[in-house]
Amino acid sequence: MRKLTFWQRLYLPEILRGMLVTTRHFWINVLRQRHTITQQYPEMPTFVSERYRGRHRLTRKEDGSPRCTACMLCATSCPALCIHIVAAEHSDPMVEKHPASFTIDELRCVFCGLCVEACPCDAIRMDTGIFALAAEKRENFIYPRELLLGDAVPKNIAEGKAPAQ
Ligand code: SF4
Ligand code: SF4
Repeated sequence: MRKLTFWQRLYLPEILRGMLVTTRHFWINVLRQRHTITQQYPEMPTFVSERYRGRHRLTRKEDGSPRCTACMLCATSCPALCIHIVAAEHSDPMVEKHPASFTIDELRCVFCGLCVEACPCDAIRMDTGIFALAAEKRENFIYPRELLLGDAVPKNIAEGKAPAQ
C-alpha cells in the first residue's frame, strides 16, 4: 500500500484545494448566470428537449376539425389502458368516423409514447413540453377532447389555482 506523505496525512491542503474548487464554481455561477447549468425552476421557465414526451394534444386538419378518425389504435396499444374513445359517425360522408368523446387519464399514463407511434393519422402528439401536471382532485387529471384540442384549459388553471402552462 502506498504510504501517505506528511502533507497528505495532514489532509488540510486537500480540504483547502476542494474548497477552492467549490468557491470558484460558486462565483462563476453568481457572476455568469447565463452559463449556469442549474435551472431556477419554477421561478424561471425551464426548457425541455424537442423529443421530450410531455402532455398529449390532439391535432387538427386544415379546416380545424380533429384529425382523429376514432380508429382506436392508440387506445388498443396503450399499456396503461388510459385512453377512452367514443366513436361517432361523421357528418361528412367522406370521413368515416370522429371521436365524439376522447379522454386520457393522465394520472394512469406512463408517458411511453406508444399511442403516438400507433396513430396512423398523426392525430395525437406529446410535443407540448408540458410536464408539470398538478390538480387537487383525481378527476381533474382526466383530460377531455376539448382540453386535448386546446379549446379548454385544465380545471386547476381555469380556477386560478395554478399558473397557465
Ligand atoms: S403515452 Fe403510453 S401510457 Fe400514456 S396514453 Fe399514450 S400509450 Fe397510454
Ligand atoms: S388518435 Fe390516432 S390512433 Fe387514436 S383513435 Fe385517433 S386516429 Fe386512431
